[in-house]
Amino acid sequence: MDAKPRMEFAVDMKCDSCADIVKNALKTRDVEVVMLDVKKQLLVVESQLSFKEILTLIEDTGKRAVLMGYGSNVSSSLGAAVAEISGNNVNGVVRIVQLANNNCLIEGTIDGLTPGKHGLNVHEYGDLSDGCRSCGNHFNPHNFGHGGINSEERHVGDLGNISAQINGRSSFRLLDSRINVWDIIGRSLVVHEKEDDLGSGQNERSKVDGNSGPGIACGIIARSSGLFQNAKRLCTCDGVPLWDEREVPIVGKERTRQKL
Ligand code: ZN
Repeated sequence: MDAKPRMEFAVDMKCDSCADIVKNALKTRDVEVVMLDVKKQLLVVESQLSFKEILTLIEDTGKRAVLMGYGSNVSSSLGAAVAEISGNNVNGVVRIVQLANNNCLIEGTIDGLTPGKHGLNVHEYGDLSDGCRSCGNHFNPHNFGHGGINSEERHVGDLGNISAQINGRSSFRLLDSRINVWDIIGRSLVVHEKEDDLGSGQNERSKVDGNSGPGIACGIIARSSGLFQNAKRLCTCDGVPLWDEREVPIVGKERTRQKL
């Protein structure tokens, strides 16, 4: 059985007709609704679209939504992770989900890149103390040479290139059999300045890092919730509802004002 990505969203729904509106919005884009519970404000869908695309479809109906968990139809929680990528005017979120054994989904959207190709790699360390420079080398537990995501010989961390459009955005979706979420949590994901030659270059550097230049944006790969692992609907710390939380800073005056 092919593993299909499953996503759990908390959706701000208050009436049965809201449920129909959400269902209809998703139906038009071939998103399969696995579960929709208005009382629990819970929506579970199966789809090949990215979490961000689905979030947009839901929010375009006027309902607020938050991604609560990510898994697959094979397993609700083989492992999921998130990396918040940042650099000089570069920002994005990448989600990594183990859909099945030997089937890992890496999907993300990164903004602020120069148009064109950029190497993307998992690096050894989750250490940003000196920016992307302290992330170490490409994650390479088997001591192979550098390659691309489809190369026979590659570092486990080699994900090839992502492409940024003229507006600086890169949206990507990769499936990989070599990366396992549980091996890379606590490491980092790095976007490089230049195109990765995937090990095909003539110089020695090509077998080390594909001549992709320094990291320009990076983030630590952190564990995130599988399906139904996250029961949170209110922030336990101060009662800011989940919906409002994402528009409010984590600390400071603005947050206090929003207290219930
Ligand atoms: Zn590499």
